[in-house]
Amino acid sequence: METITSVRGFKDILPSETGIWHYVEGIAHETFTDFGFRDILVPILEKTELFKRSIGESTDIVEKEMYSFLDRGDESLTLRPEATASVIRAYIEHAMYAADPVAKLFTIGPMFRRERPQKGRYRQFHQINVESLGLDDPRIDAEVILMLMQFLKRLELSNLRLEINSLGCNACRPGFRDALYTFLKDKVDELCGDCRRRILTNPLRVFDCKIESCHQVIDQAPRLSFFICEECKEHFEKLKGFLNNFEISYKINDKMVRGLDYYTRTTFEVVTDLLGAQNAVAGGGRYDGLIKDLGGPDIPGIGFAIGMERLISMMSAGNEKFVVYPDLFIAALGQLAESRSFELCNRLRMKGVRTEMDYAGKSLKSQMKRADKLKCRYTLIIGSQEILERKAELRDMKNKTQVTLMLDDQIEEKIIKTVKER
Ligand code: AMP
Repeated sequence: METITSVRGFKDILPSETGIWHYVEGIAHETFTDFGFRDILVPILEKTELFKRSIGESTDIVEKEMYSFLDRGDESLTLRPEATASVIRAYIEHAMYAADPVAKLFTIGPMFRRERPQKGRYRQFHQINVESLGLDDPRIDAEVILMLMQFLKRLELSNLRLEINSLGCNACRPGFRDALYTFLKDKVDELCGDCRRRILTNPLRVFDCKIESCHQVIDQAPRLSFFICEECKEHFEKLKGFLNNFEISYKINDKMVRGLDYYTRTTFEVVTDLLGAQNAVAGGGRYDGLIKDLGGPDIPGIGFAIGMERLISMMSAGNEKFVVYPDLFIAALGQLAESRSFELCNRLRMKGVRTEMDYAGKSLKSQMKRADKLKCRYTLIIGSQEILERKAELRDMKNKTQVTLMLDDQIEEKIIKTVKER
């Protein structure tokens, strides 16, 4: 019979890989907690309208990448393509701002985008997502970027580059948009189909185009830095000053617009040369109008998302380090020894000793082989002779030493002491 495989672009994360995932999540919890953030869990399914209104109708995500479907009634629902919109929806729905307008939140989980799958790009992928709501002070921008860089540092990642930009605000961006529109209108013939469409729908998006011939045109295009208002300029200058204070090196990338409509002022990305075409590890920015646009009060915010798969693929050399191995293997010979082992094995597990045994009645040699294969640190050998003498041999598989233990009421405690002492 034909086997059923997973959906294209949807990946299994196998037991040999989950150790590193938990490790990364643990460092995220630890780092973000140090900076005063708390985690929030939001659903993966939302009303389609939420993403249309926040991410923007003319973005790639909303135009062509969302997994949207009609529920049994006729409500359009969408598997979340990103988490910010959901977190803001929850912030507004639970009036979290009423108790304290400042909310520092993070969430970790799967996102769904129907992009063309390739290395580093999946249709279900995982993000670590951070949002700092309530303040528009550039110190918050610096704090959030500092926290991101600190998290990456704790993971001992290298070859990372921070790029920053300012996208201006509602006061200065329209002037830039008009100038860009005028420039692009004259270059229509040199642009790809997507960019031609973007001229009318959202000219800033042309900066995201990956096509080389478009790049050549875009390189000549006006830049926002010429149009930016005094307030935005001051905000950006202060941010740069704070980053310098913390010795965080960065590069200004004035072509970085990011793929979502809601960003204002600061945007940033962490990129690497290690991952080929999919070089962005993390990205984010300020979104001072988003909470209001989604029906909440006029409260500013800033956030970022880190791609787990890309992050982990940069660390995978050390995967072995994160796998948890059993503490003990009980090798038993004969029915009597096996039944005593079965009891001991589960009693030790209940006391927190990771214990394994074999139920197949195999030879001592093959049981020892299995203990080696499972990379157990200790083996307890209970042979048919030993059980008669009420004895067992505890072997240290690494140091190749062995001690004899009495098979009495104290054996569990003696094993626990040895295993935990190492
Ligand atoms: P974005 O929400 O597009 O700003 O993406 C933030 C981060 O999520 C990126 O820097 C990537 O690390 C990761 N990411 C985005 N899209 C994908 C994808 N299709 N597959 C894997 N990772 C992704």
